[in-house]
Amino acid sequence: MIIPVRCFSCGKVVASDYVKFTSKMSEIRSSGREPTAEEVAKTLNDLHVDRYCCRRMILSHADLIDEILPFS
Ligand SMILES: [Zn+2]
Repeated sequence: MIIPVRCFSCGKVVASDYVKFTSKMSEIRSSGREPTAEEVAKTLNDLHVDRYCCRRMILSHADLIDEILPFS
């Protein structure tokens, strides 16, 4: 659905980092390839998302709001 504003476990704000993360990933995808695991890890490190609880919030999020909105 919508990215939670804060990490469920530690309370760090992750929503603003999610926007930066997705823009960086789509920038890599626009060059015609999928981002490698090293690029994903480096992007998260550059955003100072260090804890694995916060990383899972960003990595495991499925952005479905645009698909669900027509049915509301
Ligand atoms: Zn966290």
